[in-house]
Amino acid sequence: MSGAPRDRMRLAAELVSKGATMLAEPCAEDGGIQVRYRGKVYCTAHDDLSSITTAAAVSFDTVTAQLREVLLAKLSETTAALGTEKEAAKQDQLVSLAAKYFDLLQKLPQK
Ligand SMILES: [Zn+2]
Repeated sequence: MSGAPRDRMRLAAELVSKGATMLAEPCAEDGGIQVRYRGKVYCTAHDDLSSITTAAAVSFDTVTAQLREVLLAKLSETTAALGTEKEAAKQDQLVSLAAKYFDLLQKLPQK
């Protein structure tokens, strides 16, 4: 037994807020509440939920960091292309593309 029951309920609630679903059937081993998260079933009584929530937080941060890098690189390329583009129709495409990259960048969590 590790962690206070109150702690476990908080972690279970945190997982649910991250998209986990509570399962109707209890754990076969100890009757604990089970949740399904990213295709895996976890028992809130005997599985180490803190490592799951930590891992999820890390991977989200990693993905948003990658996305930020990619978007910045694309925004830079698009800006450079816009600078040399002569055709109005192509400029229009480039501007709307840059606006989308910019919009998505603004939506990323700020560090
Ligand atoms: Zn269990």
